[in-house]
Amino acid sequence: AKKTQEDAKIEGAVQIAIGVKKEVDFATWYTNVLTKADMIDYYSVSGCYILKPWSYNIWEIIQEWFNAKIRELDVQNAYFPMFVSSKVLEREKDHIEGFSPEVAWVTRAGSSDLEEPIAIRPTSETAMYPYYAKWIKSHRDLPLKLNQWNSVVRWEFKNPQPFLRTREFLWQEGHTAHLTKPEADKEVREILDLYRRVYEELLAVPVIPGVKSEKEKFAGGLYTTTVEGFIPTSGRGIQAATSHCLGQNFSRPEMFNIVVEDPNDPSGQGKTYVWQNSWGLSTRTIGVMVMTHGDNQGLVLPPRVASVQVIVVPCGVTAKTRDMVNAKAEELAATLKKAGVKAKADVRDGYTPGYKFNDWEQKGVPLRLEIGPADLAKEQTLSVRRDNGIKAPLPLGDIAKSVPELLEQIQNDLFTRAQEAYYSRIRPVTSWDDLVPALDAKNVVVIPWCEEEACEDDIKERSGRASEPQDERAPSAGAKSLCIPFDQSQWPAIEPGKTKCAACGKDAKRWTLFGRSY
Ligand code: AMP
Ligand code: ZN
Repeated sequence: AKKTQEDAKIEGAVQIAIGVKKEVDFATWYTNVLTKADMIDYYSVSGCYILKPWSYNIWEIIQEWFNAKIRELDVQNAYFPMFVSSKVLEREKDHIEGFSPEVAWVTRAGSSDLEEPIAIRPTSETAMYPYYAKWIKSHRDLPLKLNQWNSVVRWEFKNPQPFLRTREFLWQEGHTAHLTKPEADKEVREILDLYRRVYEELLAVPVIPGVKSEKEKFAGGLYTTTVEGFIPTSGRGIQAATSHCLGQNFSRPEMFNIVVEDPNDPSGQGKTYVWQNSWGLSTRTIGVMVMTHGDNQGLVLPPRVASVQVIVVPCGVTAKTRDMVNAKAEELAATLKKAGVKAKADVRDGYTPGYKFNDWEQKGVPLRLEIGPADLAKEQTLSVRRDNGIKAPLPLGDIAKSVPELLEQIQNDLFTRAQEAYYSRIRPVTSWDDLVPALDAKNVVVIPWCEEEACEDDIKERSGRASEPQDERAPSAGAKSLCIPFDQSQWPAIEPGKTKCAACGKDAKRWTLFGRSY
């Protein structure tokens, strides 16, 4: 009975703490979760945010994992300057057309105007490739595989949201050059699979791998592959990460002229312009994770990215038992640490257990262990899962085994739940009349599609027009293509010449995911 009273008190406190419900005012819920969990603070420049240790640590975990994986692919880290001369930036026409509205420029130093404004990189293709041309002199210099962890600036005018869309963001950008297209193609997919794994295996967030439409591909590239995420609460898709094949577009003579003699040319005279890829994963990852798992108590962290996986809270102590229980709590945390668990004992004086429960719940710690004199007498601790509230006593004797298992279970359950939520909201639609109602019911749709740009424009226009008025903070209402999933097997086979595009009635090519998006 004592426990339930405590629970009721905490719930009361939580309603005030998070302020609004996720289902009622999602945008406010999101920023409240981020600030209450101490992940971000606002900054004096609009669209920029401070990443505090509680969120930055997630980024570090992603970095460590990803660095280890790309090292296996012989990618090396390097660093290029953040400034790009206008001449170089503007060399690739399609590329600069795509980025120019968002490029920030340095025009003045101290009190004098610069002779020529200098751009701050929105991405580094043009900053790097003049040097690729210099460094790649022979086919023996290939493949060249560099990656950098940096920040880029895109002066977005769409409504900014922490992590999802910020004006400066952290990311990694990989830039590779290959002798042949098959080699480049292979790497594009290998990297995309690493992105899928960052989302699915670390963040417990399901994504759908596929290729972008011509309209949505990277400016100046040959084709773009993507992992597409989904936010069930808003019913919107989100581009989770992208791996681009740039083809020979940047290497051709009128561009950066990155050329080697072709070792396969029998005459020995042939030249090959290198095949290039670029690929990027940003701190958007963190925002998608928060939106996916968070609830009305606050943040919910998947164990693999939690800087504290287990919080041990002394409970039901008196003046006489406090020191003993605190010591046992510390001992329990130490045992867990030895077993490889990121555990911490909250022995802060002057806070009630209820306050501590609430505090760590808001911060999303996956597992709480309550320990008091009664538990100690029974040589057990009470475990409470953050994700579903389930409580279970755990014998202290095999805690080094049971807790890692429980954390693994939580990780898997979070993923399974999120995946069910995503898949249940992908509506196969074959006629236009069903499309907008499906979107309005917070689904994304998958349609047999003609893959024509005019049709995509038309879908965007018609689906935007039809929808109800939106919250002013909501992203645009028209649907765009999210990706053409690689795995088409879940839907009836497209019959060439027979299956028609659900939007325009022309011949359909492949099932394509469309949705309103971030
Ligand atoms: P891109 O080079 O444009 O393909 O960007 C690579 C990835 O960075 C995208 O797939 C997005 O997930 C992410 N991204 C793009 N713009 C932003 C932004 N303004 N804030 C945070 N992440 C972004
Ligand atoms: Zn069409």
